[in-house]
Amino acid sequence: MSSGSGGESAAQAAARLRTEIEQHNVRYYVYDEPSVSDAEYDGLMRELQALEAEHPELVTPESPTQRVGAAPVSAFGSVRHVVPMLSLNNAFDEEEVAAFDRRVADTLRGAGMLGPAQQPDYFCELKLDGLAISLRYEDGRLVQAATRGDGQTGEDVTSNIRTIKAIPLQLKGAAPRVLEVRGEVLMNRADFEKLNEAQARRDEKVFVNPRNAAAGSLRQLDPRITAKRPLRFFAYGWGEVHGLPGAQSGLFDEASAGAEQASQLPEKSHGAMLEWLASLGLPVNVLHNHRATGAEGLMAFYAKVGAMRANLPYDIDGVVYKVDSLPAQKVLGFVARAPRFALAHKFAAEEATTTLLDIEVQVGRTGAITPVARLKPVFVGGVTVTNATLHNEDEIRRKDVRIGDTVIVRRAGDVIPEVLAPVLEKRPSDAREFVMPTACPVCGSAIERLEDETIARCTGGLFCGAQRKQTLWHAASRKALDIEGLGEKLVDQLVDSGRVKTLADLYSLRPLELVGLDRMGQKSADNLVAAIDKARAPGLARLLFALGIRHVGETTARDVARHFGSIDAIMDADEDALSSVPDVGPVVAASIRHFFAEQHNRDVIEQLKAQGVNPVAEAAPQGTTLAGKTFVLTGTLPNWTREEASMHIQAAGGKVSGSVSKKTAYLVAGEDSGSKLAKAQELGVAVLDEDGLKALLGMS
Ligand code: NAD
Repeated sequence: MSSGSGGESAAQAAARLRTEIEQHNVRYYVYDEPSVSDAEYDGLMRELQALEAEHPELVTPESPTQRVGAAPVSAFGSVRHVVPMLSLNNAFDEEEVAAFDRRVADTLRGAGMLGPAQQPDYFCELKLDGLAISLRYEDGRLVQAATRGDGQTGEDVTSNIRTIKAIPLQLKGAAPRVLEVRGEVLMNRADFEKLNEAQARRDEKVFVNPRNAAAGSLRQLDPRITAKRPLRFFAYGWGEVHGLPGAQSGLFDEASAGAEQASQLPEKSHGAMLEWLASLGLPVNVLHNHRATGAEGLMAFYAKVGAMRANLPYDIDGVVYKVDSLPAQKVLGFVARAPRFALAHKFAAEEATTTLLDIEVQVGRTGAITPVARLKPVFVGGVTVTNATLHNEDEIRRKDVRIGDTVIVRRAGDVIPEVLAPVLEKRPSDAREFVMPTACPVCGSAIERLEDETIARCTGGLFCGAQRKQTLWHAASRKALDIEGLGEKLVDQLVDSGRVKTLADLYSLRPLELVGLDRMGQKSADNLVAAIDKARAPGLARLLFALGIRHVGETTARDVARHFGSIDAIMDADEDALSSVPDVGPVVAASIRHFFAEQHNRDVIEQLKAQGVNPVAEAAPQGTTLAGKTFVLTGTLPNWTREEASMHIQAAGGKVSGSVSKKTAYLVAGEDSGSKLAKAQELGVAVLDEDGLKALLGMS
């Protein structure tokens, strides 16, 4: 590469890339608010590295390729790192990993530290996506904590670090005189999501990802804010070390510091060092750290971690390989900004930037309207993504995402891709705000959004093709009518062809009509019709659940079915009658009422009957006095645990609920009963002790 775009010289291109990278560094490291994805940033960095490799005369000590991070912010005190905090060289593919392993092996063989047939031993770790921190312990006490800053000087964040529970203020056992522990501060994904929800509720800044949330939380001027943020920590290295206690005194040369000072004494390995840090009470990622030999061993670790990446509670952006032997690390040494003995092997980025071409809406089973982002195709999380969810209208407003924006998209594991945030600096002047359509794009019915709901819905019900399909998938599912062989593709074809409009139409299907549909032979057509036939006498609860009424899950369907005993009785019940079913509140009652108030839904029930569908009433468990009665337990019972008491009540057909209401039949109160007892007395609910309960159960 000799020149950049538009005929610029190599020097101009280098200057342009440096300026751009520096700007990104400031946004990322200082403001914790990146405006490009890491993949895009890495691309710029690689371009600059390639340019500098071709024109070594262009390399200056100030180039971002030679330096780490960004200068610390003056609002914090500064801390000079006696042992610099470096970055890591990156590899993006197997070839680069093999090249690293070859370089390591050649150097160590040259130094007589590795036999000709031997392969290097490595210590493999997860590359945690948080921010690097250095903790200084003196005589076992935490005295200072600093960010990496530009690698030489970091920010003093001691007061903030002290609020992180995972970080010991005092080390266990015999501690060295000076020990600088290096590691990563991070935030678990679930904690990040909760934090963002709370931030949004308070109209405060929401973070793009857990890394920025962790960095933003740690770099607070008020440690009380940091204290409220769920930060975690893992140690993976060390800096300055002096005055090791007896057993470890062989690990380092006393006069100097850092990994490169390991001398010729006992367990001189990175792994052994980490074990020792763990023994001092520091969190070390023992669960995932792993020893491996040669490039093949490294690739196996990479594959194993890649497969479980989505299941980890925190984000990682790759794995890190470190030559395990400390004397070997010393021989390998450092380049300007990174050690030669370590390598970060990155995963396909889970975030990328692209253009938001349009926002369309999709209709779900209950009519829920989900805005979907149509994207300029972008490679992220290992696949090309063209659509991403935007969840709902409020979310679009909260994120201030507009059509035409450059947006950051995330795709992690098998999770549906989502739009995280717009890049405001790149907003074109003609960017448009999203307007929720007033009519359903599938059936044309009105779209409605109730005042206290975040979700807008199509009011078309089963008239709407989209809802029809999803209602049929749901109806065929295992917990509903359990029609084997009726999958999504088949439902799509049946609905699209107009052959099946309602659940009742399924029952009139004949094998002949099915043969010829995509992937449908004679045998599968016969099987499907037989499976449908089997579902002609479903339990009433299953049928009720299969109808897909909003708020009516399996349990509610069972309760309502038992209470009313027939579909006609349920169809004719008013809200009061429905509310008299234990655990059915006004919202569920209104939803059931609303469903059966629609003539087209009543028609479906009539058509089902005409097709010979005859739901079987489910009686409450026989021979018990507790059927349909709700119990609440409080306080400590003399003999039974609450679980045991609940088990006996449920076995006798009763239900156990957590709170006392008018519908509670009995409160079973033990010792130390508090507010629930008072409430029961206030409502006139019968109160039993353990003996009373046993009597009721016929067990006394
Ligand atoms: P890096 O993140 O690629 O690697 C070094 C860092 O890895 C260390 O400082 C440490 O914090 C971390 N790390 C995690 N687990 C580790 C382990 N087990 N052992 C050792 N270190 C571990 O390099 P960097 O210099 O910190 O940052 C560069 C990267 O940051 C870029 O590749 C890019 O992904 C991102 N970045 C993005 C932007 C942006 O605008 N999007 C800007 C700057 C940097």
